[in-house]
Amino acid sequence: MSALTEQEQAEFNQAADKVRSVGVAVILQSEYAEKAIRFYEYVHFNLDQVVSVAFENTPKALCKPGCDYCCKNRTVEVTMPEALYIAEQIKKLPDDVQAEILERLGQSVARLEKQQKQEACSFLKDSKCTIYAIRPSACRKAHSQSVEACQTGQEIPQHLGALIGAEAMMVGTQQAFDALGYLAEVQELNLAVYAALSNQSLLTEWYKVFLDAQKHAQS
Ligand code: SF4
Repeated sequence: MSALTEQEQAEFNQAADKVRSVGVAVILQSEYAEKAIRFYEYVHFNLDQVVSVAFENTPKALCKPGCDYCCKNRTVEVTMPEALYIAEQIKKLPDDVQAEILERLGQSVARLEKQQKQEACSFLKDSKCTIYAIRPSACRKAHSQSVEACQTGQEIPQHLGALIGAEAMMVGTQQAFDALGYLAEVQELNLAVYAALSNQSLLTEWYKVFLDAQKHAQS
């Protein structure tokens, strides 16, 4: 995000604090791991709302199905709980779809591990996002007001209000998980979702860190 004015920074901090408070209250009541990561359902819904409201009185973003510049040659980051949430949703898809996703992710991870250039996000197929309904926050936030800028790799003009609102949702959410002792560091999307899908005990292990932190806090 470009440098904010004092007023914009104050609005951003206030919005992030609000999300953090809601997040802490909701996540703390989660009795099991799947429920804790389900907070991302709320985050994704509200992030879409924030972006849509920001565009109510201004020209819409120019993004449309089949336009995939931002899904190529770009690193998308997610927090660990968001990757775990996306992985849990992928596990609900038909077996053949899951198998294809896992295969494409595996190829992508192999390329990343060899530090080869990542041509495109592994969820991109035929210029469409195969996990559009459960795509991460970073992709929900991404928008462009100039197709030419996307095509030529120039700085992409974006709606500041949408960016601030979306970023505040993301930062506040990460702070909520962090405040409760969860591991919520940011990771590359393909690596993080592949790890969550290929290691069946990752969600349990991640949740145990939270339980241990809570025990520690109470002792
Ligand atoms: S998850 Fe979907 S929207 Fe996001 S970069 Fe990948 S293909 Fe594009």
